[in-house]
Amino acid sequence: MDIQIGDRLEMKKAHPCGNRTFEVLRIGMDFRLRCTGCGREFLSPRHNIEKHVRQIKREEL
Ligand SMILES: [Zn+2]
Repeated sequence: MDIQIGDRLEMKKAHPCGNRTFEVLRIGMDFRLRCTGCGREFLSPRHNIEKHVRQIKREEL
């Protein structure tokens, strides 16, 4: 799956705050994501994220 820093991921599962869109801050074995609803940042393993992504939103520059 092609995920890049700065992408916004729409997930199948919502964050506890109810938001489903997350910004990618760092990529590696673990991804660092920021919830665009409440602003909280967290780490999650790549395979776990790829399993739950519904859509990748990328702003073309
Ligand atoms: Zn949140």
